[in-house]
Amino acid sequence: ARGLVWLRSDLRLHDNTALHRAAKGCRELAAIFIACPKTWRDHEEGEPLVSFRMACLRELQEEMGKRNIPLYFLELGEFSQVPAALRQIAEKLSIDAVYANAEYPLDEQRRDRAVRESLREIDVPVEYATDRTLVPPGSIRTGSGEAYKVFTPFKRAFISQYGGDSYQPLPAPHSRKDNGDWPAWIEVQGPNNLVQTVPDSLAGYELSAERGGTVLGWQPGERAAARRLDEFSEIIDGYEDERDFPAIDATSRLSPYLNSGAISVRQCAHMALEHNNDRWSGGSDGIACWLGELIWREFYTHLMDAYPRLCMHKPFKPETERVPWSGDELAFRRWTLGKTGVPIVDAAMRQLEQTGWMHNRLRMVVASFLTKNLLIDWRWGERHFMNNLVDADFASNNGGWQWAASTGTDAVPYFRVFNPYSQSKKFDPRGDFIRRFVPELRGVRGDDIHCPPDTPDYPRPICDVKETRKRAIEAFAQLKG
Ligand code: FAD
Repeated sequence: ARGLVWLRSDLRLHDNTALHRAAKGCRELAAIFIACPKTWRDHEEGEPLVSFRMACLRELQEEMGKRNIPLYFLELGEFSQVPAALRQIAEKLSIDAVYANAEYPLDEQRRDRAVRESLREIDVPVEYATDRTLVPPGSIRTGSGEAYKVFTPFKRAFISQYGGDSYQPLPAPHSRKDNGDWPAWIEVQGPNNLVQTVPDSLAGYELSAERGGTVLGWQPGERAAARRLDEFSEIIDGYEDERDFPAIDATSRLSPYLNSGAISVRQCAHMALEHNNDRWSGGSDGIACWLGELIWREFYTHLMDAYPRLCMHKPFKPETERVPWSGDELAFRRWTLGKTGVPIVDAAMRQLEQTGWMHNRLRMVVASFLTKNLLIDWRWGERHFMNNLVDADFASNNGGWQWAASTGTDAVPYFRVFNPYSQSKKFDPRGDFIRRFVPELRGVRGDDIHCPPDTPDYPRPICDVKETRKRAIEAFAQLKG
């Protein structure tokens, strides 16, 4: 049989369910990646994310080449063009079956159903495997058969149902001596042909973030991901104690790799379980805490799958649609530029701009500052993150924003507003992180770093955090009435 693996957000050879199944089931094997830059733009996927994805793809193509498995590339505009294109390709390449790993955002699910329909007409089956999450969304239900809306019971149910070590990673496909004949390129209806090279730019994306093979300092690909996982395994025991301090490199920084699929969540869980006698709770506090974060990722993806309205720019709590958001574009711009005059917020926003990543504690701090102190719609912040994060992931980002804005399920209660100055003192006590990213404040000494006196070149605070906190609490309290 001739199999085609359709790669999407699973850009790796090892532990790739679809690829593994295709390699086992088919004598002849090729892979394809279809870029849809117009849809990606509609989904607010920014230059950092797309550059990193394409860099990972380029590396994977090389690795597959070494194993004599061709990886084709096709650039279309939108998801809606995929079903017809894949059908043409399957016909021209005489494909018997298509293998892919399931994706869960709404438009991706619709695309995948349309592809299945379109290929059914030519009798080519498509198999979508569970791979992006540890267990299939929809498989963890409450006693009454509903999806969990609250994290802690979800986590408990996850551990009791799936808490063993059944997360043994799958091997990479072997090198193929005889892999049949695959043409170097084929003509496909539309502006672009199917080729075997990954281009340096896409319509609307320059992929310019790339310097010296890295994207904003991130080394792309599966090997870099495996190295990072290995390095992190040395310090994972200290994770619980140190993960909240942005000046310390104590978290895994695997999120860009997880989201492009250069590493799987199973490989991550497997590493942690191996170091914790296969236990999800108990044992090393650091490891149990980190496994808990993988479950948070799982939770938000399952939630998005169960509540499609989350993919339609809707808050989880409908009444929060009535929050009187301020619409202050100038304030929003100052927030994006890291010029709010609140040092910890500005340092965080500049970390995002310069590295395409932000520490989790600071994601909570800047999201709270934007939505509560500046009373700006969480969707503005969500969009800015999608556009600028190298690890942008719809489910986790939407979940994080709705958590911070108190519009989500199991969100922070609206009356508990983070004070950015207290957060700064607590989690960046010496101001090391602030000084790293806000050079204007390098000369400020001692505790003044958190709330500096007038400093040349540095703005005065954009708002009074106490007054704006009160304003936000009142705005949310009124929704009840
Ligand atoms: P680690 O601390 O090492 O955790 C390991 C992995 O667990 C992460 O890589 C991630 O996959 C998962 N994880 C950890 N925390 C969370 C969480 N709160 N929710 C879901 N998964 C989690 N994460 C993204 O991957 N993409 C996003 O676009 C994203 N946007 C966010 C927006 C906001 C407002 C907030 C508050 C959080 C967001 N997060 C997002 C979650 C979290 O901040 C990042 O996953 C984490 O900072 C990534 O760094 P790390 O890999 O070192 O994490």
